[in-house]
Amino acid sequence: MHFLNEHSSWVEIDLSAIEENVRIIKTLTGANVMAVVKANAYGHGAVQVANAAIKGGAAWLGVARIEEALELRNAGFKQNIFVLGYIPPAHYKSAVDNQISLAVWDADQIDLLSNLCCSSNTTARLHLNVDTGMSRLGISNKMAVELASYLSEKSGVEFEGIFTHFARADERDQVPTELQEDRFLAVIDDLHKKNIRPQWVHASNSAASINRPLARFNMVRVGISIYGLHPSPDCMLPDGFQPALSWKATLCQVKEIPPGTGVGYGHEYITSKNEKIGTVPVGYADGIRRMKGNRVLVRGRAAPVIGRVCMDQIMIQLDEVPSANVGDEVVIIGCQGGERISAENIAQRWGTINYEVVCGINTRVPRFYQD
Ligand SMILES: *Cc1c(COP(=O)(O)O)cnc(C)c1O
Repeated sequence: MHFLNEHSSWVEIDLSAIEENVRIIKTLTGANVMAVVKANAYGHGAVQVANAAIKGGAAWLGVARIEEALELRNAGFKQNIFVLGYIPPAHYKSAVDNQISLAVWDADQIDLLSNLCCSSNTTARLHLNVDTGMSRLGISNKMAVELASYLSEKSGVEFEGIFTHFARADERDQVPTELQEDRFLAVIDDLHKKNIRPQWVHASNSAASINRPLARFNMVRVGISIYGLHPSPDCMLPDGFQPALSWKATLCQVKEIPPGTGVGYGHEYITSKNEKIGTVPVGYADGIRRMKGNRVLVRGRAAPVIGRVCMDQIMIQLDEVPSANVGDEVVIIGCQGGERISAENIAQRWGTINYEVVCGINTRVPRFYQD
């Protein structure tokens, strides 16, 4: 794709990579796939990614907010859509009317939904969230069977699924995850003894999909892996997965400045000799952290970002790229001439995780798609 001279900064998404990543995870797990496309598909674009994921064989779409679910419904997706977290009760009616599956974890939610559905002759599809050790949302595994029994007998609501979420599946030490897995298995077992069998049982995020064969049940909820990004440094994707996102910009000015010249706000960088400096129209308002140590690729070579990151621009040092010229493509994330900067490289630089790097690319950066 060539957007030079057309955009200051832009993101390119390879949808065939996402499609293939979904196919790989489906084969690897042998389970149904819920493609997690919350937060605008981790910055990749919810509607486009959802399409690619479905082509790759995803059966469900998972989101974090009711607004995200409705965006997909309104875009015409007929697939099952699940809101992984909280839905304010004011939105229950639109969730039910749009056949969005909801997560529940207390009797009040179930009562509200049951009343709503009984009075409007509709059915809410509910998944019971069991807290097996994440201590985030969910009914404690100790009380889950009781609430599940309650749910299974309520009218107006369908007990469509039961799920849990792992806190540490991406770590080398799998003992804490085994404990969560055991607790969840015990809940499922107790429900079976009462002949309560919700259709969908799901527990695994990307990391657990790789590390916990016993926790695949009949569906895995996968986010980071479908984007071709590693769950963590201790939980790397197997061969075959491809990162889908590249982030680029256009080099907009190149100049030679003499020794002793300050660069950018606060003159935090001062040239020590005659230096070739480039200006790139991307800054912290686009999602580049205002930190030291950033680098980009120009003509297949690494160029350090110098001075402070501005809101809309950065300056780079081009001594290693003598041929650099106005109009050159600058790579922030992605490949160029055999060199690569990954979201993981940037995460390490910023002291965060690759998830936050891609989610942090702001909406003003246009996204372009390749099939
Ligand atoms: C975000 C999320 C996922 C996906 O996690 P990845 O690590 O991106 O695969 C799965 N389940 C729940 C409940 C989530 O919030």
